[in-house]
Amino acid sequence: MNSLVATSRNFRQAARLLGLDAKLEKSLLIPFREIKVECTIPKDDGSLASFVGFRVQHDNARGPMKGGIRYHPEVDPDEVNALAQLMTWKTAVADIPYGGAKGGIGCNPADLTKSELERLTRVFTQKIHDLIGSHTDVPAPDMGTNAQTMAWILDEYSKFHGHSPAVVTGKPLDLGGSLGREAATGRGVVFATQALLAEHGKSIKGLTFVIQGFGNVGSWAAKLIHECGGKVVAICNVSGAIKNPNGINIEELQKHIASGGDLKDFNGGDVMDPNELLTHECDVLIPCALGGVLNRENAAAVKAKYIIEAANHPTDPEADEIFSKKGVLVLPDIYANAGGVTVSYFEWVQNIQGFLWDEEKVNLELQRYMRTAFKNIKDMCRSHDCNLRMGAFTLGVNRVARAAALRGWEA
Ligand code: GLU
Repeated sequence: MNSLVATSRNFRQAARLLGLDAKLEKSLLIPFREIKVECTIPKDDGSLASFVGFRVQHDNARGPMKGGIRYHPEVDPDEVNALAQLMTWKTAVADIPYGGAKGGIGCNPADLTKSELERLTRVFTQKIHDLIGSHTDVPAPDMGTNAQTMAWILDEYSKFHGHSPAVVTGKPLDLGGSLGREAATGRGVVFATQALLAEHGKSIKGLTFVIQGFGNVGSWAAKLIHECGGKVVAICNVSGAIKNPNGINIEELQKHIASGGDLKDFNGGDVMDPNELLTHECDVLIPCALGGVLNRENAAAVKAKYIIEAANHPTDPEADEIFSKKGVLVLPDIYANAGGVTVSYFEWVQNIQGFLWDEEKVNLELQRYMRTAFKNIKDMCRSHDCNLRMGAFTLGVNRVARAAALRGWEA
């Protein structure tokens, strides 16, 4: 299902549960601003290449708009719109003072050299610098981008506006980044998993996990789950998938990949068909890659009892229905992966204060925010008699609607 259709459907269902005024519902759905720019750069061989860049600013009722910038071949306007909308609800669920935005460039970063990526990032920043800012819209890394990308944006932005570290988050430490930001999304996924399991008298130790993706989010989640005594029985990345019923040694796998090896060549597991990963036997399934991977084609065959959405919108609404009939509990993206943007908020606060927090404080505060959000979601589930996704959506949408109404945006 188209990601924007799926996300809007969840929003509308939450709006109905909340009894939201029809005009407010419509205005909350329509993005504040959609930007589309052409970015032409000279390639290293002297030829010219053009890429399309997007920034969708969805809502700013609760504060500056906030969200990542993605470099991926599948970036398109609907996808960026859906992701921007999800950021609005996500920042509200986490109760951090932001709205939502998302950006992206349709490109395959693996096909570009470092200097080409730098030129592309700088051209994109030149085209949007007037529309972002520490109190208007604050970008961050997402798929295909990282701390280095943020450093280039910061540098290019500063040429127009003076040194402004709080204009982006997820920066390198040397440029005002926060300790703990790199691991934050994965760590937040683990805190979210612990909160859900504790409700059922369980803990990570001894349970089996399947993790789709071994990028920034997947590798940190896998590492921390492994440290907590969870068994990662199958994992994949773009190179392929591996399984091991006794648990894959994630630290060794990380070393193997860091030394240039392919995940599928790691000798601590057997190669498996990546198409079978999501339906592999396990207690907990954690999709950490693209959207829409759990859909009506494979949902019935999923064996996990818990799904933790570390990726953004990995579950189609049709799959959601199947899971709810099967009694599979789905911890939704707008809560499960909110650790990244929560520590982005801590980074922004540190930049504005001009004061650096130690890593322990960052991680403790993250745990506190994730625990509080889980309690708030459960309260919404109880008061609106709904599942975890609708608990999170009603929580987020209600907070944004209240802020919009207080500002007088209702009429
Ligand atoms: N890209 C991340 C997300 O989807 C982080 C966004 C941010 O830190 O602003 O939540």
